Amino acid sequence: MEIRFSDAEEAFRAEARAWLEANLPCDPRPEIGDLHARRAYDMTWQRRMYDAGWAGISWPAEYGGRGATLMEQLIWYEEYARVGAPDVTTGFVGLKHAGPTLIACGSEAQKAYHLPRILRGDVVWCQGFSEPNAGSDLASLQTRAEVDGDSLVVNGQKIWTSFGHVAEFQELLVRTDPNAPRPHAGITWVICPMDVPGLDIRPIKTLAGNSDFCEVFYDNVRIPLANVVGKLNDGWRVAMATLSFERGTAFMSEQVRLARRLDELVDVAREVAGPHGRRRAVDDDDIARRLALAAAEVEAMRAMTYRSLSLAARTGMPGAEASLIRLFFSELIQRIDALAMDILGPEALCGFDATGATTGEWAERYLTGLSQTIGGGTKEIQRNIIGERVLGLPR
Ligand SMILES: Cc1cc2nc3c(=O)[nH]c(=O)nc-3n(C[C@H](O)[C@H](O)[C@H](O)COP(=O)(O)OP(=O)(O)OC[C@H]3O[C@@H](n4cnc5c(N)ncnc54)[C@H](O)[C@@H]3O)c2cc1C
Repeated sequence: MEIRFSDAEEAFRAEARAWLEANLPCDPRPEIGDLHARRAYDMTWQRRMYDAGWAGISWPAEYGGRGATLMEQLIWYEEYARVGAPDVTTGFVGLKHAGPTLIACGSEAQKAYHLPRILRGDVVWCQGFSEPNAGSDLASLQTRAEVDGDSLVVNGQKIWTSFGHVAEFQELLVRTDPNAPRPHAGITWVICPMDVPGLDIRPIKTLAGNSDFCEVFYDNVRIPLANVVGKLNDGWRVAMATLSFERGTAFMSEQVRLARRLDELVDVAREVAGPHGRRRAVDDDDIARRLALAAAEVEAMRAMTYRSLSLAARTGMPGAEASLIRLFFSELIQRIDALAMDILGPEALCGFDATGATTGEWAERYLTGLSQTIGGGTKEIQRNIIGERVLGLPR
């Protein structure tokens, strides 16, 4: 196999690199603990990309996106991570799920209203899929919605809604036909404005001391029927489109993010004292061995990413191998973060303030990284997908 980019792709890389280097925000990004300030920062950055024609890199040009090929997207994300550009964070749901879902399944009116606002960084979206008793088994969701005139009336509860308290809109899954023969059949995907009467948003404090996700309660919340995406009771099909965007090629930039994180950790291991009286952590055999193994695994992840993307570029769609990469990434990043804790030793604990919130970068990465094997499909669910769809094992 020859891994090489074409001349046109190299030209695209040069253009992306030059723009990113010239336009990277200089001011420090607010901590996730100050979510309103983080939102303002993210949206300003999004607007700057929009004004220069870099917003919605994968979105079709007819909807205001860049319309980049898969290889160009890979190059963009590589350059993006290389200069340390900020993660989209609060813009994630709008740009990565809701926008692409509306493009695939929304009405013309929904596209015309929402897509430019998402791309410009005017609005934040959140995702209302999970419930206390419906996570991996999403089709068992119980939040009810009844048709009343030209509205849906929603009652129930969602949980783990990331950025719910700073969002304007939510992609909401509700049960509209409780008597449908199969649980998948009675579900509807609807756009819920987050300022409607009857909506109660309660932030949840996480292990790392932040409140970046919420519980959301619906008490007779009225949503216009015009906000239904697809048809009434056709929400499962729309939700599968949403999840395919979430899972499809979202891993593109992760290999570069991992490589950067590992480089930083090697620097730390050269600076801090090692165990057993070693002058530097990197001089310890076990730490050196684990760093070398992690470096090899990051390279393996890069090779898997390139292979999967070149396959997707030829066949036109991401395969179930995306689950392999997602699983490998989520477990590898946790190993790297755990190694950071071992290298820093008790010093890592200095990164907590009196309220228990993390102030140290590595401690925060370690604690928030524990969710990597849960969000976006748990590691067990990813293994099920690999077993059934990649290896063809019986269910
Ligand atoms: C950081 C983070 C952000 C999130 N953001 C959002 C959001 O914005 N919106 C939203 O709707 N949700 C969000 N979620 C929720 C996420 O989608 C769910 O946590 C996830 O789907 C798992 O569901 P659950 O937590 O209910 O666990 P459960 O489904 O109850 O699983 C519990 C355990 O049982 C295992 N298990 C379950 N079923 C099977 C099976 N069939 N085979 C083998 N093992 C199984 C699971 O792997 C897990 O270990 C977020 C989660 C995290 C961690």
